[in-house]
Amino acid sequence: MISFLDLKKINLRHEKEIMESVEKVLHSGWYILGEEVKGFEQKYAEYCGTEYCLGVANCLDALELIIHAYGIGEHDEVIVPSNTYIASILSVSANGATPILVEPDLNTYNIDPALIEEKITPRTKAILVVHLYGQACDMDPIMEIAKRYDLKVIEDCAQAHGALYKGKRVGSIGDAAGFSFYPGKNLGALGDGGAITTSDKELYGKLHALRNYGSKKKYENLFKGYNSRLDELQAPILLEKLKWLDQDNAHRRDIAEYYSSSIINPNLTLPLVLGEPESHVWHVYPIRTGNREHFMNYMNENGIQTLIHYPIPPHKQAAYKEWGHLNYPISEQIHNEIVSLPISPVFDLEDARYVAEVINRYEAI
Ligand SMILES: *Cc1c(COP(=O)(O)O)cnc(C)c1O
Repeated sequence: MISFLDLKKINLRHEKEIMESVEKVLHSGWYILGEEVKGFEQKYAEYCGTEYCLGVANCLDALELIIHAYGIGEHDEVIVPSNTYIASILSVSANGATPILVEPDLNTYNIDPALIEEKITPRTKAILVVHLYGQACDMDPIMEIAKRYDLKVIEDCAQAHGALYKGKRVGSIGDAAGFSFYPGKNLGALGDGGAITTSDKELYGKLHALRNYGSKKKYENLFKGYNSRLDELQAPILLEKLKWLDQDNAHRRDIAEYYSSSIINPNLTLPLVLGEPESHVWHVYPIRTGNREHFMNYMNENGIQTLIHYPIPPHKQAAYKEWGHLNYPISEQIHNEIVSLPISPVFDLEDARYVAEVINRYEAI
C-alpha cells in the first residue's frame, strides 16, 4: 500500500539530532520558554523575513491570540474564506467576533479577492487569509483593500511554511500570521506547536505577555492572558527540521510537477499554480473529480491511499448550525469533489510514477 503520508519516515531522517535535542533540554534543567524556544523564534523570524516570532502552543491559539491582541471581539466582523480548515474560523468565534465567509476562486481554492469588498461593513476589523493547500493567496489586491478600509490582515500559514509571494515569504506580508507545527504540516514537531510572526513591535509586546498568562514579569499580570507556549523540547527539533524545509518543499514541488505533467485524464481537474513555482509548497496535492467515492475506491483497490481535505464545509458543520441555510456553492463544490494524492518530502518519484499511471487508466462511471 502506498500510504498518504509516512510521518515516521520523515522524522527518522533526523533521529540523531532529535535524540540530541531531547538530551540537551533534559540536561539544561529548564523546560518552559528557555533558550531553545528563544533560539528557534529568532531563526524562524529570520526565515520568514519578519522582525519577530513567538512560539505558541498551536496555530488555532496563534490566530486567536492575534485577534485578541488587536482588540477584535463582540460586535466586530472578520472576513475569512468559506473554504478552509475549521480552525481559521474558530479563531474568530473564540473571540466573540463574527466570521464573515467569502467564497474561494475555483482555480486556486484560495479566497477570491474580487469578492471581499462587497462583504465589508462598518464592523469589519480584519481579513484573515488562508494560504490553503500550501499556495500563497493573491496578496496584492487583498492588502490594497485592507489599506483602503483600514483593516488588519492576518495570515493563516498553517499549510504554507516557506511559500513565496512575489519573493516574500508568507507570514511576512500581512500584519501578523499564525503557523502550525502539527506533525503532518510542512514543518512539523513531534506533537503540537505553533508560532506567530509579525513586524509590529507593539503587537509583539502584547502577544509576548498574552501567551504567558498576560505577564511580562513573573506574578504581575497586565492582561487576562492565556497559557499558550511552544514546548522547550519541540524548539530544537523544529530548528533542526527548519534547516531542511526548503529542500523538503522543493521535493514536494518535484512530485507535484511530475503529477501535473504526467496525469492526463479528462475526469480529473488538476491544481493550478498562478504565481511563481515557489508560491506553492504543496502541503497537499488536491485534484477534483465528479464521482469522488468511485475514484477513491479505485485508487484504494490499486494500493494507493488518498484523503479528503475536507469533506464538510465549515458552514455545514454542526458547530455552525446557524449558517446551515447559507449558500456557498463554490465551497460546496470543492468539498464535494476534492481529493488529495500522496505527497511528502519522503515520497518517491517511483511511487509518483505508479500513482500517475494508475490514474491515467481510471475510467469514471
Ligand atoms: C492545521 C491548521 C490549523 C490549526 O493548526 P493547529 O496547530 O492544529 O491548531 C489552522 N489552519 C489551517 C489552515 C490548518 O491547516
